[in-house]
Amino acid sequence: MNDPMIANEAACIERHRLRRVIDEDAILARVREIGKALSDRHAGRYPVVVGVLDGAFMFVADLVRSMTLPCEVSFWKVCSYGAERMSSGVVREVFRPEISLAGRHVIVVEDIVDSGRTLRYLLREIRKAGPASLTIVTLLHKQATASDSLCPDYVGFAVGNDFLVGYGLDYQGKLRHLPALYALG
Ligand code: IMP
Ligand code: MG
Repeated sequence: MNDPMIANEAACIERHRLRRVIDEDAILARVREIGKALSDRHAGRYPVVVGVLDGAFMFVADLVRSMTLPCEVSFWKVCSYGAERMSSGVVREVFRPEISLAGRHVIVVEDIVDSGRTLRYLLREIRKAGPASLTIVTLLHKQATASDSLCPDYVGFAVGNDFLVGYGLDYQGKLRHLPALYALG
């Protein structure tokens, strides 16, 4: 892999190889489509975009810039992964939005839905707040493992079972900054 963007990082994770699976242009084109669809769906409203940290920070930034609506942006930080590639199975909440979601049109923005455990936890918590509506957006959906009961309204890309990094997604805290998506070999 000769990509200079990842040369330094590659040195840190030399046991792994990175294979680009979705390039930056394709991501941004799809993000713009979703931004347009959300703007149509919520026309005339003032929704709250709730990004799920840390992984969704880059997606949220591009998504809200591609929306033609005014909106509020807030973040919910949860962890379900330890340092490994497998989910720990326990969702731990670090912080949640300070603004009230009661009566608001809430757009939840995830980086990736794997088992769906994180999203299921968040949806349960958001519904308790009594939002006017709830729209679920995920950039990536690992359809082999996600349960059928969880059906996001907007999926950027359906992906296979590879562990993905870049565009906000990390492996042990690294590689989030990459503008494209890579499979970790
Ligand atoms: P779930 O609770 O099993 O659906 O896992 C969702 C969370 O795990 C996501 O929000 C990500 O933060 C993380 N995750 C799942 N799959 C990947 C991956 O392939 N790369 C990086 N993070 C992942
Ligand atoms: Mg996440």
